[in-house]
Amino acid sequence: MKILNGTALAKKIKSVLAIEIEYLVNKHKRAPKLSIILVGEDPASTSYVKSKKKSCNEIGILCDLNILPFSTSQQELLALIQSLNKDPEVDGILVQLPLPKHIDQQVVLQTINYKKDVDGLHPMNVGLMNVSDEAIIPCTPKGILSLLRAEDISITGKHCVIIGRSNLVGKPMAQLMLRENASVTVCHSKTRDLPYLTRQGEILIIAIGQPNLVNADMLKEGAVVIDVGINSVDGKLVGDIYNSIDVTNIEKKAAAISPVPGGVGPMTIASLLENVVEIYKRRCVG
Ligand code: NDP
Repeated sequence: MKILNGTALAKKIKSVLAIEIEYLVNKHKRAPKLSIILVGEDPASTSYVKSKKKSCNEIGILCDLNILPFSTSQQELLALIQSLNKDPEVDGILVQLPLPKHIDQQVVLQTINYKKDVDGLHPMNVGLMNVSDEAIIPCTPKGILSLLRAEDISITGKHCVIIGRSNLVGKPMAQLMLRENASVTVCHSKTRDLPYLTRQGEILIIAIGQPNLVNADMLKEGAVVIDVGINSVDGKLVGDIYNSIDVTNIEKKAAAISPVPGGVGPMTIASLLENVVEIYKRRCVG
């Protein structure tokens, strides 16, 4: 069984981007800039935004981190987004999710200028993804696609089964795989007979946030398994299936699997950096 090494591929993508950014900065006399907004002090979100900022800085992307108190009102947050929308120096805007319950996430996402929406979650980008190549693609699905491509895993004609239908992962992943000519099945918590469907997955993408739901018996022989899940079990980081209790049997049955950590996570960050550079290039051209 092959391990799909997201860490190594992300490193390669970052070094190529660093060279491109150096060239672009010389040409356009300014560096790409990402503005991140974090509301509150959730430890996981704080660690994610710090690692996004570090990755930006490593390759020459400027990144400012706006950390707002948990008590920030929706109006205050929208005002900050509107000022970043207008700021000519800011290429990308990222609002770290989840937001506190008193703030309407959809209103916030819709306030970001869709042309600066690095996460690709604005309804305009969601819609564009269905009809054109101009959309900003959400980072996790984009990273998964890059990983499959880099590993020469063919997608055309394959049956791709996705567990999870979130706006962040499952739905855009389904759309991307359809665009890549896969036949796609999307499963969720109301799906009847999940094992019947997962056993058909030549490519199985698991984005639930719950370890040990999927075992080896639910896999098709020779499946390519992409584990998106991030879970903490006894203080250890595990995926939804990688390192699960049935790992030995899973390894015997799957042809390839993305590990946790070191699979989809680093690819998500690499795709975020790609999106910032893509938006910067579009804005420089006009
Ligand atoms: P959500 O909680 O938004 O979505 C989870 C999905 O799983 C829902 O569609 C839900 O169904 C489905 N689900 C839950 N329980 C079951 C079940 N028993 N059977 C079938 N489906 C089920 O999570 P996200 O999509 O945001 O994230 C999923 C996981 O991926 C999390 O662990 C998250 O931390 C991780 N993640 C990792 C990233 C990375 O970079 N590595 C990036 C983003 C997320 P329903 O819709 O019916 O409720």
